[in-house]
Amino acid sequence: MRLCAFLFLLTHSAVAFAKSPLIYFDTFLENRKAFVDLIQKADPKIWNLKTASWPLSGAQELSTDVAFFKNRTPQKTLLVISSGIHGIEGFVGSALQRWVIAENILAGPSDLKTDLAFIHILNPWGMQRGRRVDQKNVDLNRNFLIDAKNFQGTNADYLKIDSFLNPTDSLSLSFFHRLGFLFDSVQFILRYSLETLRKSILIGQSDQPLGLYFRGKEFASVKARVDDFLQNDCKTYAKIIWLDLHTGYGENKRLHFLANDADSPLGQRLVKQFGAFNINFGNQKNFYKTDGDLATYVSEKSSGDQEINGLVLEYGTLNSQSTLGSIESLRRMVIENQAFHHGGSFESLNESTRQFRQMFFPREDDWAEAAVTQTRQALLNLNLGMQARH
Ligand SMILES: [Zn+2]
Repeated sequence: MRLCAFLFLLTHSAVAFAKSPLIYFDTFLENRKAFVDLIQKADPKIWNLKTASWPLSGAQELSTDVAFFKNRTPQKTLLVISSGIHGIEGFVGSALQRWVIAENILAGPSDLKTDLAFIHILNPWGMQRGRRVDQKNVDLNRNFLIDAKNFQGTNADYLKIDSFLNPTDSLSLSFFHRLGFLFDSVQFILRYSLETLRKSILIGQSDQPLGLYFRGKEFASVKARVDDFLQNDCKTYAKIIWLDLHTGYGENKRLHFLANDADSPLGQRLVKQFGAFNINFGNQKNFYKTDGDLATYVSEKSSGDQEINGLVLEYGTLNSQSTLGSIESLRRMVIENQAFHHGGSFESLNESTRQFRQMFFPREDDWAEAAVTQTRQALLNLNLGMQARH
């Protein structure tokens, strides 16, 4: 009997204490400190480390941090990994960046055929406040427009369902709220088709400053930082591979590789670079094109003597590739935005925060394990000598 109890305790405590391969922290500042402390551990005999900070004006501690690791022998390729352009997605993004650093930079002599740069949390305000957007409600991953004229455009399809996407009353959640949202969604799907809705909502808009997927009316200040980084810090490389980390879209526990348009010259180039990745392009069914996303923006900066290939790494959570999953994802986006701008009952605000966080920052160990396994494979597929350790 006693032996049984002992064995029970042994097996169950092993499950209870199974360690997640990702180390999470609950606030932006803790993540920032963990990142800044970790990069300092790199062996200076192996790596030449250059750091930079891009503070938000008026809030010094809300800063994007850059760690640039250069091999002692000059390299032609640079791998950039950026996180947190959607603030709340930075919790997983930061943990993944620290995991890559621990596996590849701190693990002794390097066989890497690349230099590495980590851009830690492009939207620190959003991460601190648990939002996707920045302090002006701007979705920064719709703000990196190739052509600034597009800030003037109108998204007519979006405006047709504006009152559904952006309710202006205070939030009151109940069982019927979810049902009502589902009912309204089905009406819209029947009228416009899910594909039309998905594509018109997600592409971004400049019409509703308090609405979802607002791209802003002008470039956010972080864009000038990225431009400067590309022009000055990256100019010596013949090839740049830029991976931008996201969570929340797509199948739960699956890493999706997203790019905009399979048929464009850029799309063809990405297929060549990332052939082993099985990219989901925005012009395919169940996926969506964006206007102003960072990965496309940096790729378009390629020139005659420098190729830049940007790709979104999207770690799925709520099965939003399915109809029900995409309705539920949208519902969580809507209520978070409604709660932020129009308030609500104490319980409703708490509940919307909880659901939003769960969508972008899942805490289950098996989710983290799946994220790490697939990231490791993706990095190996780059053929840059990344570590294959387990
Ligand atoms: Zn995102």
